[in-house]
Amino acid sequence: MSNQYQTNNCVVCAVTENEIPLIAISYKQQRTWTCFSCLPQLLHGKKNIDDYF
Ligand SMILES: [Zn+2]
Repeated sequence: MSNQYQTNNCVVCAVTENEIPLIAISYKQQRTWTCFSCLPQLLHGKKNIDDYF
């Protein structure tokens, strides 16, 4: 693996940070990313974060 910068994807819908700002989230000692449109679905329980870890 190189140390080059990687484009991050939303863990839910896989949109890239080049399209929508992503928010870093930490969960169960893991770091991942979610986008503005998926975050509310996680917050309101429409999607279960455990499905993505
Ligand atoms: Zn998303």
